[in-house]
Amino acid sequence: MLAFGLRQLSRPLVCGGVRGLCARSASSHTSDFSRWTGQESLAEDDAEMWRLVQLEKDRQCRGLELIASENFCSKAALEALGSCLNNKYSEGYPGKRYYGGAEVVDQIELLCQKRALEAFDLDPERWGVNVQPYSGSPANFAAYTALLQPHERIMGLDLPDGGHLTHGYMSDIKRISATSIFFESMPYKLNPQTGLIDYQQLEVTARLFRPRLIIAGTSAYARLIDYARMKEICTEVRAHLLADMAHISGLVAAKVIPSPFEYADLVTSTTHKTLRGARAGLIFYRKGVRSVDKKTGKELLYDFEDRINFAVFPSLQGGPHNHAIAAVAVALKQASAPAFKQYATQVLKNSKAMAGALLKKGYTLVSGGTDNHLVLVDLRPQGMDGARAERVLELMSITANKNTCPGDKSALTPGGLRLGAPALTSRHFNEADFEKVVDFIDEGIKIALDVKKKTTKLQDFKSFLLTDEETKARVAEVRHRVESFARGFPMPGFDER
Ligand SMILES: *Cc1c(COP(=O)(O)O)cnc(C)c1O
Repeated sequence: MLAFGLRQLSRPLVCGGVRGLCARSASSHTSDFSRWTGQESLAEDDAEMWRLVQLEKDRQCRGLELIASENFCSKAALEALGSCLNNKYSEGYPGKRYYGGAEVVDQIELLCQKRALEAFDLDPERWGVNVQPYSGSPANFAAYTALLQPHERIMGLDLPDGGHLTHGYMSDIKRISATSIFFESMPYKLNPQTGLIDYQQLEVTARLFRPRLIIAGTSAYARLIDYARMKEICTEVRAHLLADMAHISGLVAAKVIPSPFEYADLVTSTTHKTLRGARAGLIFYRKGVRSVDKKTGKELLYDFEDRINFAVFPSLQGGPHNHAIAAVAVALKQASAPAFKQYATQVLKNSKAMAGALLKKGYTLVSGGTDNHLVLVDLRPQGMDGARAERVLELMSITANKNTCPGDKSALTPGGLRLGAPALTSRHFNEADFEKVVDFIDEGIKIALDVKKKTTKLQDFKSFLLTDEETKARVAEVRHRVESFARGFPMPGFDER
């Protein structure tokens, strides 16, 4: 693959104006500190890494990005991310730092907090937010650390059913996620008939297991979560409700799907999926009056704020990534603007168009359709699986990922394929473009079916794809059409095309 990419890169289009720099050999600044300025560009300083970044830019431009958790961050946010803010240590919180010189990053963190609350329409008297988590997984672990004693109980949607590792995942034989090592986890599941979350089973299990925390959040679920129902269950068993909106936070900010904030005690999120910012995490927590004692009239306050902040720093993290916090603030400003609501509306339209086109071609969707940014295709009725489909699509410059379907036995060759609309919608793909995308996917799956007939195991299938001349030509022919189609669309974040 790399050799193919390097050939791509020798095209003048990509090397363009910096061709001179490509050829420059190691210059004096690397051997003599007195000449070191740190002002050299990446191309000058490290041509090898620069070339790899160019290759990745080219890969992103010529491919169809359907990974549901990915997006294309704006140039403005990337500019903040790649800024001098990287240099500043500021352990602690605004106004309470362990380092001097934090007056500017204090303002940046406060601005990010303010924008995070504004983006989700939250009253700063009722909600607070910690913007320091390095990513979504650390945000979840910090939330658990804040709320739970070691070995207290949590319940989350099982990973094979569309939950996330950090919701307590363990396999039949091993505790996998640290959230199942340090806490006791019990999964809830999808109803295998409907492909929808089985709230009834969750209720029954929660009554028996008595968790301290129930997590409402998904990574591969095409429907909306019934937060009211989950809150009901939490109230009955006296559990906290944590909504992990990592995948859907952009859609929530744009108000095109229901918000978890009405029901949840805490809400965690990533910032780089539908929210389209830099890679980081957020933890929102309720604050202010929790309840009033009927007899004494005394107000009972939420105590989440101190616990969350202490869990993030000093319990789990050190210095905040100020460059990421600034870039998240930039993305949150964008997410509050009318254009972002149009974007999120288009994400839903595109996802529906993709689902409709797949159904029209006879494909089966888990839960029968979609209400959000992704569709989960069940390829088992076709006699296909997600792993083989994923590989053929990858060779055609279409990136998607295999996913388990309800009832799947193997996680290595699961029956499903997860397809998301957020990234291509950022490239201004519309419904008709997504129908074209489905045509390409369908071509890929037909190739996969033909190759499957001629091969045995997955490994055999994969090597056949790279060695059989007729198949290679067939894949390459589709790839050329995919790439010239993809290159026709704009790309946020960077100029090289
Ligand atoms: C992606 C995701 C996370 C973790 O985010 P990372 O930034 O990859 O650590 C957590 N929860 C859910 C539901 C996710 O989809």
